Amino acid sequence: MTDTLLNGAQYLDSLRDGRQIYVNGEHIKDVTTHATTRNAARSIARLYDSLHDPATRDRLTMVDRHGIRTHRFFTASYTAQELLAAREAITTWARMSYGFMGRTPDYKAAFMATLGAMPEFYAPFTNNALAWYKRYAAKGLFLNHVLVNPPVDRNKPVHEVGDVFVHVVRETDGGIIVSGAKMLATGSALTHATFVAQNSAVQLEKGKAEDFALVFIAPMDTPGCKLICRPSYEMAARSPFDHPLSSRFDENDAVIIFDNAFIAWENVFVYRDIEKAKRLYAASGFMNRYNLQGGTRLGVKLDLMCGLLAKGLASNGTDDFRGTQAALGEVIAWRNLIWALTAAMCLDPQAGPGGSVMPKLEYASTVRLFSTMAWPRVKEIFETILGGSPIVTPSSYKDFQNAEIRPLLDQYYRGSDSSAEQRVKLFKLIWDAIGTEFGGRHEIYERNYSGNHEQMRLDTLTFAKQRGIMDACTQLAEQCLGDYDLQGWKDSTWTFHADI
Ligand SMILES: Cc1cc2nc3c(=O)[nH]c(=O)nc-3n(C[C@H](O)[C@H](O)[C@H](O)COP(=O)(O)OP(=O)(O)OC[C@H]3O[C@@H](n4cnc5c(N)ncnc54)[C@H](O)[C@@H]3O)c2cc1C
Repeated sequence: MTDTLLNGAQYLDSLRDGRQIYVNGEHIKDVTTHATTRNAARSIARLYDSLHDPATRDRLTMVDRHGIRTHRFFTASYTAQELLAAREAITTWARMSYGFMGRTPDYKAAFMATLGAMPEFYAPFTNNALAWYKRYAAKGLFLNHVLVNPPVDRNKPVHEVGDVFVHVVRETDGGIIVSGAKMLATGSALTHATFVAQNSAVQLEKGKAEDFALVFIAPMDTPGCKLICRPSYEMAARSPFDHPLSSRFDENDAVIIFDNAFIAWENVFVYRDIEKAKRLYAASGFMNRYNLQGGTRLGVKLDLMCGLLAKGLASNGTDDFRGTQAALGEVIAWRNLIWALTAAMCLDPQAGPGGSVMPKLEYASTVRLFSTMAWPRVKEIFETILGGSPIVTPSSYKDFQNAEIRPLLDQYYRGSDSSAEQRVKLFKLIWDAIGTEFGGRHEIYERNYSGNHEQMRLDTLTFAKQRGIMDACTQLAEQCLGDYDLQGWKDSTWTFHADI
C-alpha cells in the first residue's frame, strides 16, 4: 500500500514553479505569498492537511484497487455505500470553505478517477490514462479544467476560429505543439495542471475539425501557457471582519492561453479523434460524477445560508412573522431538495465504467439544473426578507475601533438578540455571500459553471431519450389516451352515460 498524498506544506511548495500568472499587469512569481491568492492557497492547503489529520483521515481517504491510499472521490466507487462514503468525503472538504470554493481538488476527481476504471477507452493512449490515474490518486493532485471556447464567433464552425480556439499546430517526436485560448479556468492559479477538452455541446465536423479534437493535460508550468486572471477579490478584501469569505475563498477564474505550448505525448489522451473527443463525457461518466461533487458542495453552502437567514431574522426581530418563516421554510426546502438528490445519486446508482457504479444520469442532470435555480432564488429571498439589513453596516471594522463613534455604533446598530458588533459581523458575512463582488461572482458561477442555461435543459432531454425515460413517459401518456374513445371507456371499471 502506498500513502503519498500531499500535505498542506508540500502542496504549497509544489505551486512554486515557473507558472505564468498575470494579475494587474504583473507576472506573479509566487501564488502562495502574493496578496491575490495567498489565503485561497492556504484554504486549499488545509484540505491537504485534513487528509492526514487523524480526526478526518478515515472519513476522507481509502485504499483503492491498486493499493493506493487516496481521497474517496479520487477513485471509482464500486458500491452504493462507497459512493455514499465518497459524498461524506466531499462534504467534509466542502464544509471547510462553507461551500464557497467550487473547484476544490475533488471536483476534477470526478473525471480523473474514471481514468483508472477505463484506461482502454483512450487507446492508443491507454498507458497515459493509467499512469495519470496512479500519479493523480497517489498524490491527490489538484487539476483545473477548461472545456469552453472563448465567447467569439459562436456562429462559425469551430475549425474556422483557429486564431482563438485551442488546436494542434504541429507534431514533434516528443509531443504536440498547441495554440489557442480556453475558459474559464477556475482556481487554475492554484492547481498542478489543467485538463483541456472540448465542451460536450461543441460541434466538430469530420474531415475539418480534427486539429481541434484534442484532450490533454498541461502542467501549470508548461512553457507557453499563460493565465490571465480576473480581478482578485481576495486582494481587495480588507479584513476577515469585513470580508470573511472573499478574503480566504476567492478561487480566481482565468483565461488560459496556449502560445505554441509543448504537450508531451504522455499527457495526451485523445488526438485528432472527433468521435472520442465527443464520446468522452458519456463514456467516462464525468457528467454523472461531477454533479455529485457540485450538488454536495451546494448542499453545504445552503446549510450555511439556512443558518445565516435564521440568525438575520432573529437579529432584526422579524423571526416570528408568518411571511419570514415561510421564506425560511422555502430556503430549507431548496437545501433539502439538493441533499435529497445527492442521496439518490449515491444510493440508486447506475453501472459505470470498468464495473464501477456512478450516479444515475437523470439525477445528475436534475441536480445540475435545479442548482442553477436554487442559488438565485435563495439570494432573492435574502434580499427580500432581510430588506436593506445586509448593507446596514459601518464601512470597516476600524469604525468599531474608533472611540468617538463606538458608543453610537453600540447603541444604534444593536440587534434584537445581539450586540452591535455581533450583528454587524453577521450581516457583513451575509453581504459577502450574496452582495460583494465575490458574492456577485458566486451567482454567475452557480448559474453557468456547468454550461449555459439552455444546454443543461437540452442535455436533460437528450439523456431522457437515451435512457428510455422519454419512451416510458410517452407510453404512459398513450396508455391513458387508450383508456377511452368516442364510444366511452374501454375498460368496464368505469361507467359512461352517453345521454348526459
Ligand atoms: C464563474 C465561472 C466559472 C467557471 N469555471 C469554469 C471552469 O473552470 N471550466 C470550464 O470549462 N468552464 C467554466 N465555466 C463555464 C464556462 O466558462 C461557461 O461560462 C459556460 O459553459 C456557459 O457558456 P458561455 O458562457 O460560453 O455561454 P454561451 O454558451 O455563449 O451561452 C449564452 C447564451 O447564448 C446561447 N448560445 C451560445 N451559442 C449558441 C449556439 N451555437 N446556438 C444557439 N445558442 C447559442 C446559449 O444558448 C445561451 O442562451 C465557468 C463559468 C463561470 C461563470
